[in-house]
Amino acid sequence: MFSLLADKLQDVFKDLRGHGKITETNITDAMRAVRMALLEADVEFNVAKGFIARVKEKALGEEVLRGVHPGQQIVKIFHDELTALLGGDNEPLNLEKPARIMMVGLNGAGKTTSSAKLAMWLKKQGKAPLLIACDLHRPAAIEQLATLARQVGVPCFTPPPGEKDVLKVGRLAADWAKEQPGNVQIYDTAGRQEIDEPLIQEIKALREFLQPQEVLLVADAATGQQAVSVATHFHQALNITGLVLTKLDGDARGGAALSMRQVTQRPIKFAGIGEKLDQFEPFFPDRLAGRILGMGDIIGLVEKAAAAIDEEDAKRMEEKMRTASFDLNDFLAQFKMLKKLGPLENILGMLPGMSNLKDFSVDEKQMKRVEAIVLSMTLAERSNPDVLNARRRQRIARGSGVSVTEVNDLLQRFGQMRKMMKGFGKMRQMMSRPGAAS
Ligand code: GDP
Repeated sequence: MFSLLADKLQDVFKDLRGHGKITETNITDAMRAVRMALLEADVEFNVAKGFIARVKEKALGEEVLRGVHPGQQIVKIFHDELTALLGGDNEPLNLEKPARIMMVGLNGAGKTTSSAKLAMWLKKQGKAPLLIACDLHRPAAIEQLATLARQVGVPCFTPPPGEKDVLKVGRLAADWAKEQPGNVQIYDTAGRQEIDEPLIQEIKALREFLQPQEVLLVADAATGQQAVSVATHFHQALNITGLVLTKLDGDARGGAALSMRQVTQRPIKFAGIGEKLDQFEPFFPDRLAGRILGMGDIIGLVEKAAAAIDEEDAKRMEEKMRTASFDLNDFLAQFKMLKKLGPLENILGMLPGMSNLKDFSVDEKQMKRVEAIVLSMTLAERSNPDVLNARRRQRIARGSGVSVTEVNDLLQRFGQMRKMMKGFGKMRQMMSRPGAAS
């Protein structure tokens, strides 16, 4: 997610932090590099320009340059401005009755998928969502929504076959919804390859009829420079209330996110981060800014972990990490926990300093081998890996069907990991210090 921008910015800031003293020239150079990075990430020209001007003005302030850690302070200014550009705080959905949400956007942006994802998310929040198919142009869309609704386990309205009058469908759907035990209605509307007038008129009419509390523009994060015109058109015609940004898991350069929010002045409310129905989350500007700047998204990670992991287990693990009494039994237990958290690459990106691990990929087969090695050890060996002499290592290699070198490698990496944990402990202390920006 935003990896290109994140890489570039982290290089610029690494350089900036390297200077004990910072001059105006350093800042001007850094801002030029940042502007290039933003443009390359498809941030619209005027958005990038305004942003740089604001950061530069603050960074050139007397206090910053004379401060003890000017580099860090500039990163902090940048973080704050980036958060503001992404929208400041997370804005929750307006679910006042009748709690109607219209999903709009171009074809392929992810409207239908996001409608179902949103239903699933709302269900987890204790709501009773209803899905309503109003895309009368793409015949497959109705069936797609109905199938997804079954997966999520929520009722779904499908229009009478062949019906082309969207207002009639809206009326039928609204009547149907009244009879259902639901309290949030999600309307999946029609899209096009490109914006055209008939499409806009149709959705506009539906909007006027439904008077929804939310009109969410669903947009693909990889939209590129077209993003500004898409957002402007939809917003002018429909007065959207928020954005859902999809496919943030891809190689998207992500500039669309920054530009769309800026030109509409509407919050990005949710982010789609994968094809699966649960890969969808509320959008938090400050967390994303932190991730772009390589400061990690510790809160997001903790929330993810809390949802997937038993609290008692997590507490015990934390204690072990803190006191560095982590052994191979814990390693194995943690392996199992990690599996529950989903793809490892995503998790690593949330850790400070890890988002720029280039070409890092996690090989699931390799993970199974590692697990097999640990499982071939006795409990005593796992608690005290120091007893693992050459003979024992040979036995373990045989038992797990790997070479002795692989066993040695694992033990060596485990040693490094323990060291890293001590490092994380220190980093946590640093991060909890006020004003520490990295
Ligand atoms: P619609 O035409 O706007 O209704 O788009 P769809 O909901 O049919 O989505 C188009 C494609 O994008 C589908 O293959 C989805 O699985 C995929 N998609 C939607 N959201 C995401 C996302 O957040 N990440 C990824 N990787 N794919 C997504």
